[in-house]
Amino acid sequence: MAEKVSGMKYFGKTVYSGITMGKVLVLRSNQEPIRRAKIEDAEHEISRVHDAAENAKQQLGALYEKAVKEVGESNAAIFEVHQMMLEDDDYLDAISHIIRTEMVNAEYAVAITGDNFAGMFAGMEDEYMRARAADVKDISARLVRNLSGQEGIDFTAMEPSVIVADDLSPSETVQMDKKKILAFVTVHGSVNSHTAILARMMNIPALVGVTLNLNEIHTGMTAIVDGAAGEVIFEPTGKECSEAEEKIRNEQEKARLLQELKGRKNETRDGRTINIYANIGSVSDVGYVLENDAGGIGLFRSEFLYLGRDNFPTEEEQFQAYKQVVQTMGQKKVVIRTLDIGADKQADYFSLGKEDNPAMGYRAIRICLKQPEIFKTQLRALLRAAAYGNLSVMYPMITSADEIRQIKKIVGEVEQELKRDEIPYRIPEQGIMIETPAAVMVSDELAELTDFFSIGTNDLTQYTLAIDRQNQKLEDFYNPHHKAILRMIKMVVDNAHQCGKWVGICGELGADTALTEEFVNMGVDELSVAPPMVLKVREKVRSI
Ligand code: PEP
Ligand code: MG
Repeated sequence: MAEKVSGMKYFGKTVYSGITMGKVLVLRSNQEPIRRAKIEDAEHEISRVHDAAENAKQQLGALYEKAVKEVGESNAAIFEVHQMMLEDDDYLDAISHIIRTEMVNAEYAVAITGDNFAGMFAGMEDEYMRARAADVKDISARLVRNLSGQEGIDFTAMEPSVIVADDLSPSETVQMDKKKILAFVTVHGSVNSHTAILARMMNIPALVGVTLNLNEIHTGMTAIVDGAAGEVIFEPTGKECSEAEEKIRNEQEKARLLQELKGRKNETRDGRTINIYANIGSVSDVGYVLENDAGGIGLFRSEFLYLGRDNFPTEEEQFQAYKQVVQTMGQKKVVIRTLDIGADKQADYFSLGKEDNPAMGYRAIRICLKQPEIFKTQLRALLRAAAYGNLSVMYPMITSADEIRQIKKIVGEVEQELKRDEIPYRIPEQGIMIETPAAVMVSDELAELTDFFSIGTNDLTQYTLAIDRQNQKLEDFYNPHHKAILRMIKMVVDNAHQCGKWVGICGELGADTALTEEFVNMGVDELSVAPPMVLKVREKVRSI
């Protein structure tokens, strides 16, 4: 018989990179079909539902506690959402209604209601509401399990495994013992789901949207999951196994070497130091910042709080998010950038309108200055959160001193309002992004008016080279190493230092280790990079 040349290979979307090999555990969702049975006593069935819901709330409370410890409060919040859903009158009334009108068993009524609600959520326009479809299915499955006395899988007893499933709910994911999961592979699920977020926090390879037939995959098979390649191979050949082993060894060695740098200084051999901070886009990224030993957060792109929804986040919502980030970071600095909406980051409810040249259009601070009510809501949340930790505020897309004066006036008004209303606040350190050539050229003047600069090399490259950063055709021309950019960075650093202000780089160039030495020599005080790059940049700094 001819030797097979390859195992069963499938591709999917990478949620998290890394490579692993191990035994497969196929998780099938409750296979038992739910029986429809006629009942006599509707009120008795309804009270069973209420008991099961009470039970479920306790289980979710325990899951919440476990998740807070393992993946942080914001990621655990999903279980609080589930608890709330179990108290939702519409949901419970719908179940009771089916029981009373059809005189059927509680399990059946719950399953039908779960399907109906999930279908309703799935059909909604709002992305957030669509994502609730999975949650309502999850709580309904839990209720059915409680009603029928079925136990879930005992995840604590399993061997370290590659989990293969149709989809995974957040509650299934969090119940798993992190040390026993080698990777996740799911047929469905989006890279933005809560489960994907949890997988990223767990730091294990994960693929979603893998078009495999679950009936062909069995528990006990061997699988190689290569997150970076977006590939999973079941029953690999000997050659594929040895190639994977080699990759795993390389990764482990790299990771081991980097781990040794945790707790170490970002210090060059001749004693110069630089701060290495991390960039985040959501509250849930903070765990990753700490895990990678970043000295702080140099850029929290707050506009992500505004995206993927139907209306403005409220002051309270924003305050809670910012407060959570600064509190989790303890004394470490957290630089929150005010919303940089517009250009490629669009939210319909802003009604920004169509522009011929959106990158040069109505965006970022321009919106904030033209629509101060939007700006003020965010500023109130930021000033309030600043009372809870080491928060700094940063303003994007600045081109002139006059814009800073206008910002200061608005901040002053917000301060007066908070004072008047006796709401606790603190005026934080305030800096600006240097990402337009204009800001570079007047950086001496701007330095007088701000506490720090952070250079946004992504936009600075786009505006200096007149190259749309979104345009794939221009990729070969988009050269952030261009002498013009490097000279601008030097100029900004000098002007900031002349005024006694600190200056960082938070664009992608900050993580470019080919330039780290040059940045250190220029006197750049801080580099803010994606969390997985922190230790790599530290390694580079220490080699200089
Ligand atoms: C930049 O422009 O370099 C930057 C950090 O901001 P963003 O990439 O969000 O525009
Ligand atoms: Mg920018």
